[in-house]
Amino acid sequence: MAVGFYNFKELHNEKLQADIIERFKEIVSKNAFVEGEYNTKFEQEFADYIQANHCLLLANGTDALEIGLQAYDIKPGDKVAISAISFFATVECVINQGAHPIFVDVDPETGLICPDSLERIVNKYPDIKAVIPVHIYGLPAPIEKIQPICDAKGIAIVEDGAQSHGGKYENGKMIGSSANLCTYSFYPTKNLGAFGDAGAITAPNKKMADKIMSIRNHGRSPDGHKLFGRNSRCDHLQAAVLDLKFQSFPKQNEQRKEVAKKYFDKLKDSKVELVPEKYLDISSWHLFPIRLSNKEEKYAMKEHLSKKGIGSALFYEKAMPEEKPCVDFPGEKEKAIEFAAKTLCIPMNPFVTDDEIKEVVKEIKAFF
Ligand SMILES: *Cc1c(COP(=O)(O)O)cnc(C)c1O
Repeated sequence: MAVGFYNFKELHNEKLQADIIERFKEIVSKNAFVEGEYNTKFEQEFADYIQANHCLLLANGTDALEIGLQAYDIKPGDKVAISAISFFATVECVINQGAHPIFVDVDPETGLICPDSLERIVNKYPDIKAVIPVHIYGLPAPIEKIQPICDAKGIAIVEDGAQSHGGKYENGKMIGSSANLCTYSFYPTKNLGAFGDAGAITAPNKKMADKIMSIRNHGRSPDGHKLFGRNSRCDHLQAAVLDLKFQSFPKQNEQRKEVAKKYFDKLKDSKVELVPEKYLDISSWHLFPIRLSNKEEKYAMKEHLSKKGIGSALFYEKAMPEEKPCVDFPGEKEKAIEFAAKTLCIPMNPFVTDDEIKEVVKEIKAFF
């Protein structure tokens, strides 16, 4: 039995397609193509859901990171510490601001930023201006441990929440509801996705929200241009899709959790390693990572699953510091490199059936 990694057929079923076409017709009839009423509606409902004070829609998740750094006044030449396991956008946003990235190593069981490594890095580079922890796979980065380290030195935190819509911190509060800026991507494969590119940022106060609103629209404020911004507005069509898909999103995140629980149950005594069980109820389960003993075994497992028609994916094939443009950047990376070498992600979406879970588990076990 073939098991797909994603399931867009089910996610974008005929009912959703029909509803979206209705909305597109409505938008075309109103000639409201950029930042329309669905933008405001979705921003409010997403902020309410995340329990954040403000949510601002943007053009994509990479812009959200860059704008987050700009909102904290990160300038060319500044140093920004970043978690070494992430999608490439997390290093790109630093470079695009003209700033210098410094890698922070990760927890070997989760790929999340390691507070001890961060502590060493901020002591070694006392002029670090900002840190980007990543809620990778939907697991919460240990904000409660890194917040005091950063607060003591006046270091800003931009949380990369591109994979963590609806996940919770270890204290049970929603990711994105902290005192920091938190960025989101609505790329179609994320837990909540548009029909193209979109992103957002949640902000703790009106001052930051107003600044971000201004940056996304060429530095405009009600009384003229006060700073140099950019164009990172979100299309009304994308906001309309997000508002519509949001209606079934909380339930889909619950379904992801059910899938994760079943995988856990069936795999916890197997030869693959899983993230600690304490994350079961709080991760947004964007991805379900398993760890093999080494790189060779990881590729062999991927090949075995592929032969059986089971989708799997390398998030990430390499740690960011191993990517060619990053090899000379400073920081700590040893555990991140090992983590990336061993990690493989197995099918995770809200629609993985019990039979599919059984099949995936059977083939993982058959491999050994
Ligand atoms: C997807 C992703 C981004 C970038 O989002 P885009 O919308 O593709 O620009 C940034 N960080 C992480 C961790 C991501 O997974």
